[in-house]
Amino acid sequence: MTDYPPGPIGAALRAADARDQRRANGRRTVDTITDDELDQLYADTDRADEVIGDLNETVVRSIKHAAATEQRAKQAEAAIARVRALHQPVQGLGLDSDEESKGYGLIEQACSTCGTPDEFAIRWPCETIRALEPQEPTP
Ligand SMILES: [Zn+2]
Repeated sequence: MTDYPPGPIGAALRAADARDQRRANGRRTVDTITDDELDQLYADTDRADEVIGDLNETVVRSIKHAAATEQRAKQAEAAIARVRALHQPVQGLGLDSDEESKGYGLIEQACSTCGTPDEFAIRWPCETIRALEPQEPTP
């Protein structure tokens, strides 16, 4: 006896197995089917209708979930684009923390938002832009 998972997927698998079994036994006709077999056929049909209804609901929920997920992804991408637009590279003046810098002076690529670009510039890409870059997964 096969164990089926609970829910509409298990019911669909059970129905598919029953259908395969009926095909293997050959098609019954009105002259050969018994009352019990006809009752079982109606019960199977009713159950198949329920399964189809459950699967339709599952499909509708999945489509709604996918649409909501797509909308959230678009909103997140738009927010990231707004953050990137705020943190653009500009020339600035400041005390460069780069080891090769010569102290206070021109920073060719400073963040347009972090620090004060014309006095206390922060090297670009700043922490904010670096945080937007893909991160290595932590083990
Ligand atoms: Zn910045």
